[in-house]
Amino acid sequence: MPLVSMRQLLDEAAKGAYGVGAFNVNNMEQIQAIMEAARETKSPAIVQASRGARSYSQDRFLYHLMLAATELYPEIPTVLHLDHGNSVETCKSAIGMGFTSVMMDGSLMPDGKTPSTFEYNVKATREVVETAHSKGITVEGEIGCLGGIEDGHGAGLDGLSHLTDPEQAVEFVRETGVDALAIAIGTSHGAYKFTSKPTGETLKMDRLLEIHRRLPNTHLVMHGSSSVPKDLQDIINQYGGKLKPTWGVPIEEIQLGIKNGVRKINVDTDNRLAITGAIRKVFWEKPEEFDPRSYLKPARDAMKKVVAQRMTQFGQAGHAGDYAPISLEAMAKRYQQHLTA
Ligand SMILES: [Zn+2]
Repeated sequence: MPLVSMRQLLDEAAKGAYGVGAFNVNNMEQIQAIMEAARETKSPAIVQASRGARSYSQDRFLYHLMLAATELYPEIPTVLHLDHGNSVETCKSAIGMGFTSVMMDGSLMPDGKTPSTFEYNVKATREVVETAHSKGITVEGEIGCLGGIEDGHGAGLDGLSHLTDPEQAVEFVRETGVDALAIAIGTSHGAYKFTSKPTGETLKMDRLLEIHRRLPNTHLVMHGSSSVPKDLQDIINQYGGKLKPTWGVPIEEIQLGIKNGVRKINVDTDNRLAITGAIRKVFWEKPEEFDPRSYLKPARDAMKKVVAQRMTQFGQAGHAGDYAPISLEAMAKRYQQHLTA
């Protein structure tokens, strides 16, 4: 099956009361890890690429690897999503390239660093929604700013300084017509999310519940939601790495989110940790090895294991065959009918 609309995946997830992990990729092994995990757990899949990933893969490599994924895993409904589009132009180029979903992150200016105004965010996001929906493509927006830095993207904020205002979130969804909404509730990009196990003071789940109460029909997105498990940190440090102690978002908090409107959960760091740990282990234990497959294969297996575990924890496992994918043309018609209804 061709790449599918993310809106359909998230609508189905809402019906089934589960969440769908969105995993970042830069290369073939990461795509293979996600697709294998999806097959093993019978999960729908969201594969996402940031601007950095598009540049790293020259865009075309990424797109053709994704076509290979749809050929080799025809039973898996698979989305290719743009993570943190920084401008209307970036989103349009992703749509032109064949992405079936885009994030317009208008919470920051096009430099990807400076917090923007509400008016700018609404205007840029609405423009992307108009273009995308006319082609059946899904749009994720963001209101409030996340902490940390992701692929050079991010204001370097502490995660708590620009939390999502629930009232603004309602207005934003109404004004833009986004399919999914990323919210800032204290999470950050990267490995160093929390300096101790998060509490209600640092991870504002109450804020999420309030947003869901006001926007019960909007698919919420949790960014920066790797759990940064200690065992993955330990493997890296055991084999010569130097990670400082750090805490991520506990799985039980994500599961609470899923009970309260969260349908997409972004995970990147956990996979990076798994890959790096596996490679370090081979280098440490077998310094005579020099065939890249000797370390890339264990790296791919380690990522697959993490992804399969998250797919199970988020509840998407077992749901790949629940529905027939709707074509992008049919999705475009739906959006059109909704507009004129
Ligand atoms: Zn993000």
